[in-house]
Amino acid sequence: MSYVIGLRCKECGKTYPISPRVVCDCIAPLEVSYDLDGWKRVITRELIASRPPTMWRYREMLPLEGEPTVSRSVGFTPLVPAPRLAKALGCRKLWIKNDAVNCPTLSFKDRVVAVAINKAIEFGFKVVACASTGNLANAVAAHAAAAGLESYVFIPEDLEEAKVLGSAVYGAKVIKIRGNYDSVNRLCSQIAGEYGWGFVNVNLRTFYAEGSKTLAYEVAEQLGWRLPDSIVVPIAGGSLITRVGKAFKELSDIGLVEPKNVTLIGAQATGCSPVTTAVKRGTREIEPQKPSTIARSLAIGNPADGYYASGAIMSSGGTGEDVTDPEIVSGMKLLAETEGILGETAAGVTIATARKLLQQGKMNPDAETVLAVTGNGLKTLDALHNQLDPGITIRPRLEEFENQVLTAVRSAAVAAG
Ligand SMILES: *Cc1c(COP(=O)(O)O)cnc(C)c1O
Ligand SMILES: [Zn+2]
Repeated sequence: MSYVIGLRCKECGKTYPISPRVVCDCIAPLEVSYDLDGWKRVITRELIASRPPTMWRYREMLPLEGEPTVSRSVGFTPLVPAPRLAKALGCRKLWIKNDAVNCPTLSFKDRVVAVAINKAIEFGFKVVACASTGNLANAVAAHAAAAGLESYVFIPEDLEEAKVLGSAVYGAKVIKIRGNYDSVNRLCSQIAGEYGWGFVNVNLRTFYAEGSKTLAYEVAEQLGWRLPDSIVVPIAGGSLITRVGKAFKELSDIGLVEPKNVTLIGAQATGCSPVTTAVKRGTREIEPQKPSTIARSLAIGNPADGYYASGAIMSSGGTGEDVTDPEIVSGMKLLAETEGILGETAAGVTIATARKLLQQGKMNPDAETVLAVTGNGLKTLDALHNQLDPGITIRPRLEEFENQVLTAVRSAAVAAG
């Protein structure tokens, strides 16, 4: 049974029946609306706990009409305490929400695609597609393959090889566009209008976005049904951070957690920071940028949900910051060295943003904070080229080990004091 009522305009409140439609007649975006009383009657902590550890344990709060038929093993990624990282950053209590090990394509995008693909099947689409900065293409390609649907993924031509091959391997048609994400997105809107394909983040975006909420539901459940003080979220199109805020509020609205204001902290790269720049200026109005950053998964210069993302951050009392490419690399290294987690460049953005805000005194060091690690570093190893100790090569001889390896290690220790 479904708790979906319909689609509702975020600005004027006009309602529409469920359909692959994303904007109101007034041009503002539509949102899925649910039967809140139905939720309150049916959803309990015990019901959720009785279900398998996937994002579908919250299925009443997702916009499907029936049960999911594909992409059923996504989500419920680990929430791990990060005491060594907390010590390095100088704060009290940190948690990593580790979507670098989301299933099956190792990023948070498995969540949004799981919802969008099931919705595409309910709507009867035979072809699914997306405009992507990389991870979304991987997820659409993999989930479509498993669902037996044809897929087309549209990406900027300069993406990391792992993200290109990691889409093509599933049999998706990979279309590389000469231009940045914003021109990819424009083309996809035209194609969606002409061909009646299910573009997960264009004409199915209203449903796609709902999948993001599950990251926050899981955080609350994994903390023992309570909310953290704050959460640091990397921003691309602005969907995730907006829905994290919405999801925490939904949980307190239906009494699953005590109400609490969770401070939303936005993280972007200096080479593409339209949302955090707006927040720093104290406005919701986004000025589009031309992206130039190694954090390619976040390189959206004109974010679709930018206005709502900046609004959500500011109304939570949160803040935003941007970090440079060298800071992103050192963030990736710090996360790996302290907690044994290899996150992608976007994770470097999250860690480096937390570090910067703590240093600037703009983040409360006593707050219990969750850091969203949203993608896997094995897909962005390019960023680490020439950034790490290359290792020592020796012949298989004990004296070479002693003379070259141990001597080198000892003199490094002496140099480090
Ligand atoms: C897509 C993506 C995000 C954020 O996405 P939004 O478009 O803001 O919802 C964050 N991290 C990674 C690794 C991503 O691929
Ligand atoms: Zn409207």
